[in-house]
Amino acid sequence: MDYKQLVDKAYEKHNLDKEEIERLLMPENSEDEAYLFKKADQLRHETVGDFVHLRGLVEFSSHCRRNCNYCGLRRDNTSLLRYRLSPDEIVDIAHNAAMLGYKTIVLQSGEDEFYTADIISDIIRRIKQNDDVAVTLCIGERSYEEYKLMRQAGADRYLLKFETANPEHYAAMHPDMNYDDRIRCLMMLKDLGYEVGSGNIVGLPGQTIAHLAEDIMLLKELDVEMAGIGPFIPHSNTPFRGEAMGTLEMTLRVVAIVRLMLPYANIPATTAVGTIHPQGRQKALMAGANVVMPNVMPSQYRPRYEIYPSKICIGEQPANCRMCIEGIIRSLGREVGTDYGSYKAGQ
Ligand code: SF4
Repeated sequence: MDYKQLVDKAYEKHNLDKEEIERLLMPENSEDEAYLFKKADQLRHETVGDFVHLRGLVEFSSHCRRNCNYCGLRRDNTSLLRYRLSPDEIVDIAHNAAMLGYKTIVLQSGEDEFYTADIISDIIRRIKQNDDVAVTLCIGERSYEEYKLMRQAGADRYLLKFETANPEHYAAMHPDMNYDDRIRCLMMLKDLGYEVGSGNIVGLPGQTIAHLAEDIMLLKELDVEMAGIGPFIPHSNTPFRGEAMGTLEMTLRVVAIVRLMLPYANIPATTAVGTIHPQGRQKALMAGANVVMPNVMPSQYRPRYEIYPSKICIGEQPANCRMCIEGIIRSLGREVGTDYGSYKAGQ
């Protein structure tokens, strides 16, 4: 089977073994690669349609108890000026985002235990009382009881990326974390009825093509409702300073293959892919992605949530971001989604 036939197989069956995924990750020429992107884009059009769903991202705390080797928020980065928003501020920012037309609010932070499940639950309730929006949480590993409380308070979705599906590689990336705990958390979230998002980082130090294939297979096995795929960008205040950045090409290939394997998943064109290339988000939207997650934070906080350096849109205010993103989406002949953009399997 040649490369294009393998792409066709993925397009029709949505199922490949590890060796086949590895082959798709390594096209021999630009024509093969273009075919992969074209078929992923075609499948995206047929399954989730032409709407691009916007998620308003509220980065409410840059404190983190963890020490992930690739992340600028890691606790050993003492040069970062950290912040925490009050519940009132978070609710206000979410309301402003809803006024700008966002139908999903993503509450994201480092792993910050200052915000108990009760505090987060109260924030979720207040946001939902104010506005007709879906709420996504992205706050890391918690206990089953905490996940349950927040789900009962109205949280609809949860993002918890595994970052790498290979346990040894995971251990090398996360000095104080455990791969099995990560998977256990993902299973708990599924069990509680959250729409679950996970994903990986493309180009992490020590990553191989086999690792990337394992990442894609794990996304398929978990049957995630959302898959976040972004390139590694080295940060100078981490142990990975000086390492090579993940490439646009490989990131787009992973996005495209994940679309072919998970036809109905919500797949964001990440801010990170827009950071490594000026057209990165547009290219991802044309290789299978159907979601964008604009930042809705006031501009004074944005530089202080520095997971990686040189993040785009750092100086922008939420209203400008909304217009800019809408322009990008329209320029691709697509429309901004007007509903929650929930996972719709097989419709
Ligand atoms: S990746 Fe998440 S858990 Fe790890 S240091 Fe960064 S914010 Fe904390």
